[in-house]
Amino acid sequence: MNRQAELLISLQKIDKEIDTHILRKETIPRQIEELKSEIEGLRNEIKTLKQTLKETELQVKKIEIDIKEKESHIRELRSKEYMVKSNEEYRALKDEISLTEEEKRKLEEQGFDLLFRIDELKSKIERKEKENSEKERALLAKIREIEDEYEHIDDKLQILRSRREDLVKKLDDGLYSQYEKIRKTKGDAVAFVVEGSCSGCNAVLPLQLVINLKSTGDIGRCENCGRLLVYVPEKDSS
Ligand SMILES: [Zn+2]
Repeated sequence: MNRQAELLISLQKIDKEIDTHILRKETIPRQIEELKSEIEGLRNEIKTLKQTLKETELQVKKIEIDIKEKESHIRELRSKEYMVKSNEEYRALKDEISLTEEEKRKLEEQGFDLLFRIDELKSKIERKEKENSEKERALLAKIREIEDEYEHIDDKLQILRSRREDLVKKLDDGLYSQYEKIRKTKGDAVAFVVEGSCSGCNAVLPLQLVINLKSTGDIGRCENCGRLLVYVPEKDSS
């Protein structure tokens, strides 16, 4: 392979690296935002559970008050038992007592269910708090890691760009402008001969061109996609 072909391949490699770093730099802020909102989600999960617990405890308090009211109502009704004048009145009183007792019993059942729910919520909160704080720690570490990476991207880019400059100086001007022109529209400007085809567009190349590139190591051109073509043995056998 001739020196210019080698330089072209190196240039393409550097450009790909530069593109990767630039792309990475663009995605990092969004990635950090996503991680932060994940942390927010973990915290909200606990907040919601605690809110539910608080509401359930309030419901229990309200039921306790209702039960006390029913009890005092029952006591009041019972105190009237000896004052009623007719059987009819007595029956009505008895009915009201049993109805109120039934209501009280239902409230006690509800209260019992809610107390059970409170126990469940408390242990769930305890478990989730532990789980989520571990998750949060891992997410924060990840954020720090990415922030660190972000800070170093510019340094890496600077190194790559100065290496690129040195490389471009050694490259024929005409070849470099061709490279830049193709790169703007095709992404990769340099393609390789792979089993008689162009690695850029997969078109089958004229046999004579393949033989020529193989024997001279010169830079050719794919008639189909216009990319600069080089023959590298390792690319062909892979
Ligand atoms: Zn091609």
